[in-house]
Amino acid sequence: MDCLRKAISADREIEFIAIEATDLLRESMLRTGAWPPAMIHLGQALMGAELLGAITTKEQTAKIGIQWNVRGPFGNLYAEADHMGRARGTIVHPQAPVQNLNSTLGSGVLKVFRKEKGFVTGIVNSKGDVCADLLKYLKQSEQRFCAMNLWVDLTWNDDNPENPVEVRNALGYLVESLPSESIGRAEAKAVFWEGRLDELGSISKWQLEDDKTKGILKTLSGDENVREIFYLNVGFHCDCDEDRARRALALARNDTTKKSDFVKSESQAETLRCEYCGKEYCIE
Ligand SMILES: [Zn+2]
Repeated sequence: MDCLRKAISADREIEFIAIEATDLLRESMLRTGAWPPAMIHLGQALMGAELLGAITTKEQTAKIGIQWNVRGPFGNLYAEADHMGRARGTIVHPQAPVQNLNSTLGSGVLKVFRKEKGFVTGIVNSKGDVCADLLKYLKQSEQRFCAMNLWVDLTWNDDNPENPVEVRNALGYLVESLPSESIGRAEAKAVFWEGRLDELGSISKWQLEDDKTKGILKTLSGDENVREIFYLNVGFHCDCDEDRARRALALARNDTTKKSDFVKSESQAETLRCEYCGKEYCIE
């Protein structure tokens, strides 16, 4: 079952967060119609938003949004997650005709929005790799020393000709070296952890038990009894409704440059489709 777990090391210096988001990504893939190359970026962004939310937000109304403005084959990418673990995301060209699964988003900027006690925005130059860009943001904008791995495992299912590509696994983790007396010490710990995580390699190589997030925490910490301090169910959720669609349409008539959550249906006039969940709204 999709969830996020957080644990802390015995010396209280390192925090480990693990996420399983297989159903969340399945739902998002179905609703956006994303093909594998785009789905890898969208899936990583969804997990990244959840992980970032888990370390940076404390407010009950908090929401975190991460947006790549890039010049690449997939177009811009956006994902958001709230304090209840609910997430949604969208990518401009979900069916970009890209063959190579390792194609990046292209370079540009990554913006991070935090709706918490007001509205905080951070911005860094991005190279188009979700994981690397988020780590750069955490280090540069928030002075947090973290390591992260996001694995979107896609598989081909011949039994389902309509949607032959499926998400088999979506797993990720984030390790944070908690603030020390000195930034130097936190950085030294982070370097130690980078080395250790290099040794462990990608999650795709790990032997995980049935409860995958628990397995990730044990593997990361090397401690069978690692102390769990937080648990959250995660899942897909879109909060679009007809009112929003109506406002988006009015806005689009007046200002075609404004970004909204909806795109115009190609077949029917005055019909808007939510680009996160695919729901259509026919506005009279
Ligand atoms: Zn929607």
